[in-house]
Amino acid sequence: MRALVKTARGPGNMELREVAERPLDSGEVRIEVRSAGICGSDLHIYHDQINIPIRTPVVVGHEFSGQVAEIGPGVEKARVGDKVTALTAIRYCAHCRYCRSEFYNLCPDRETLGYMHNGAFAPTTIVPARNVLTLPENVDFRAGAFTEPLACCVHAVTELTGVSARDVVAIVGPGAIGLLCLQVVLTEGGRAIVYGTRDDAARLELARKLGADHTMVVDEEDALGQTLELTEGYGVDIALECSGHPDGASLALQLVRKQGKYTQVGLFGRPINIDFEQIAFKELQTTGSLGQKPTAWKRSLDLLASGKIDVHSLISHTFPLSQWQEAFATFQKREGVKLFLDVNT
Ligand SMILES: [Zn+2]
Ligand SMILES: [Zn+2]
Repeated sequence: MRALVKTARGPGNMELREVAERPLDSGEVRIEVRSAGICGSDLHIYHDQINIPIRTPVVVGHEFSGQVAEIGPGVEKARVGDKVTALTAIRYCAHCRYCRSEFYNLCPDRETLGYMHNGAFAPTTIVPARNVLTLPENVDFRAGAFTEPLACCVHAVTELTGVSARDVVAIVGPGAIGLLCLQVVLTEGGRAIVYGTRDDAARLELARKLGADHTMVVDEEDALGQTLELTEGYGVDIALECSGHPDGASLALQLVRKQGKYTQVGLFGRPINIDFEQIAFKELQTTGSLGQKPTAWKRSLDLLASGKIDVHSLISHTFPLSQWQEAFATFQKREGVKLFLDVNT
């Protein structure tokens, strides 16, 4: 089958290749990929600016949904034809302190789909049956492919940060993750201000449609001054840094009030310069989040089924797999929000 492969470490080194479908081992299922979204980290893998372990050659892609096509020996849970998505932690040790509390995202031996195991930018992919989650009846394949990024946001916002009703939350970076975090914040009863650059005009408009109280263009407006005005001079209760850009992190640290919460959701891919002392001066509760754990996947699916999260508005482009370069270039230019690859064309 034809798949998008990171062929070797280093910048670039990505191409469409014929990859042989291997037979299933016991406990595995083969999934026919029906929908596959491009993640910011796929772009990071392309440029080789990522600190998450990769093992090449590997088929990339980890945000997907599909239909069970074949069941390996010993699999009882899944059935051929099931509409599913799948947890991306393909292997983990299962006995370290993180695994014992289901934080498989932090297991030192974690091996991830699309990083170390062949992923979803291919007509089929293979996962352990225990990773398979059935899509609720009213969650279509497109929405199902959002389960993973939405789970990242549930993990960051609900599980790690904690939003109280009426909290004012700054969301810096209106990409797919920022706009999903926005919606999770709203389901928790928070209010949101979303920050972007002048290139983000369409994304900021979408943020307002999705329920943000305010949006600000940081390179055209006095974002800090306006935020202080909106918050009685204090600043926001919570800052979610979703841009993965050093300027975004600096801004988020300025926006958050004393005794507020700062959560790093975006990844920079390299060390950055930042006024870290602000964490002391402001007595901030600071955390970061990386990926997700099973509880977040389940809540993510529940949220998708509830209809409270609008993922379809985020879908801006679908490219055939054969035009993956154009898709990545479009994403790189920060056009659109969530881009999909059609793995069968
Ligand atoms: Zn992702
Ligand atoms: Zn472990």
